[in-house]
Amino acid sequence: MDLVPSCKDKLAYFRIKELKDVLTQLGLSKQGKKQDLVERILGALSNEQVAKMWAKRAPVGKEDVAKLVDDIYRKMQVSGATELASKGEGVSDSSNVKVKGEIDDPFKSVMKVRCLCGSSLETENIIRCEDRRCQVWQHIGYVIIPEKPMEGNPQVPDLFYCEICRLSRADPFWLTIAHPLYPVKLAITSIPTDGTNPMQSVEKTFQIARADKDLLTKQDYDVQAWCMLMNAKVPFRMQWPQYADLQVNGVSVRAINRPGSQLLGANGRDDGPIITPCTKYGINKISLTGCDARVFCFGVRIVKRRTLHQILNMIPKETDGERFEDALARVCRCIGGGTAVDNGDSDSDLEVVADFFGVNLRCPMSGSRMKMARRFKPCVHMGCFDLEVFVEMNQRSRKWQCPHLSEELHVGEYYN
Ligand SMILES: [Zn+2]
Ligand SMILES: [Zn+2]
Ligand SMILES: [Zn+2]
Repeated sequence: MDLVPSCKDKLAYFRIKELKDVLTQLGLSKQGKKQDLVERILGALSNEQVAKMWAKRAPVGKEDVAKLVDDIYRKMQVSGATELASKGEGVSDSSNVKVKGEIDDPFKSVMKVRCLCGSSLETENIIRCEDRRCQVWQHIGYVIIPEKPMEGNPQVPDLFYCEICRLSRADPFWLTIAHPLYPVKLAITSIPTDGTNPMQSVEKTFQIARADKDLLTKQDYDVQAWCMLMNAKVPFRMQWPQYADLQVNGVSVRAINRPGSQLLGANGRDDGPIITPCTKYGINKISLTGCDARVFCFGVRIVKRRTLHQILNMIPKETDGERFEDALARVCRCIGGGTAVDNGDSDSDLEVVADFFGVNLRCPMSGSRMKMARRFKPCVHMGCFDLEVFVEMNQRSRKWQCPHLSEELHVGEYYN
């Protein structure tokens, strides 16, 4: 009787995990794509002398291979039922959009609405900031900006951060102390008929209280003007409009360190200029104009400069980091080749399974051997970087992103 067709049918249900189980028991290599693993098992079935390749092992006949496949197939059918049952529970509700009629969490009785529009009215179309300490609500229609203005209702993001929480994550060297001017949007003042970018501007006043002024006499406290693109692809960075012109109490302040036509400064970042010398106790006037078609928000904050030592102290200690079991599971996922949540279900035909993995002990930023190998908590890969090198280099570049992957995948979660 030919065992191949019936085994082939069963193997079609096998995930990489089961295929590897069979190959382990046969003492065969587990390397290659999923299809390679299947073919290796089928090869063992059509070969009378499987055992000859593996002389040290007891001889294995093709009947034994078929029985092994059958056993695992049966086990899968039994466990399949329980797996499906357990999957139904623990469905997380990650939605941060308020659904009409939804019962609010009774422990969160006060709903704080702080929106760029200036209104604190609770409406139906509102979205909550993801930051646990903030949880402020904002009006979707005002803060979510569509990629293309003509495309109607914009896509509401899965993870939403308000401007203040985005700003506080842009550069850990600045600690926000107060917001003399809460974020406001720039308004379009004129649209040229020749198709060039519209002019936009905002003019506001902000107050420096007596207590603030006392703080500002200290060396590490400053007043900073800041600006961010509303629908930025990289949410945690500052960005000023093209041809930004900033005035504080009638004094021109250089907002950007780049030609006005360029979109961003060095390292894909703009900075927030320190305006302390132009401010005074009491009421201050500030204005910003730019020539840009995109939507920006703008504000003034009092900041305290952190030292390198303070930054290093903010990074979670090893005991507060990933639990050993979680780290082990992550490494297993990496070795399994997938980045899926549950590798048991990972079943990509393209996934490459390998027996050996090299882990580089050199820091990707300095090229030297790592002294304090660290990684970002949400990263799924195994590569690390040297912590001190990372902090020192980012003090200058302000990118604060994992050196292993592209910008969009890493959202500056350096201290979360
Ligand atoms: Zn609003
Ligand atoms: Zn927030
Ligand atoms: Zn990473």
